[in-house]
Amino acid sequence: MATKTKKIKASGRFKSGYGTNVRGRLNKVEALQRKKQICPYCSKPGVERQSAGIWNCRKCGKKFASHSYYLEKQA
Ligand SMILES: [Zn+2]
Repeated sequence: MATKTKKIKASGRFKSGYGTNVRGRLNKVEALQRKKQICPYCSKPGVERQSAGIWNCRKCGKKFASHSYYLEKQA
């Protein structure tokens, strides 16, 4: 039996809701979001998202602004 290619990824939890385009974009964002976010100041992966665009590093205690859902500098 041939396996169907699943391209739904993280948005699979919404089943068919919200439309394909929106779910596709969500996949992109969530894939980045789940990566370890690396602090641009101490370059350690200890950054937590506080709210949209506000990030807090647990290692060096810096609080800074960046993208809403992920950090700009990806390792
Ligand atoms: Zn840091």
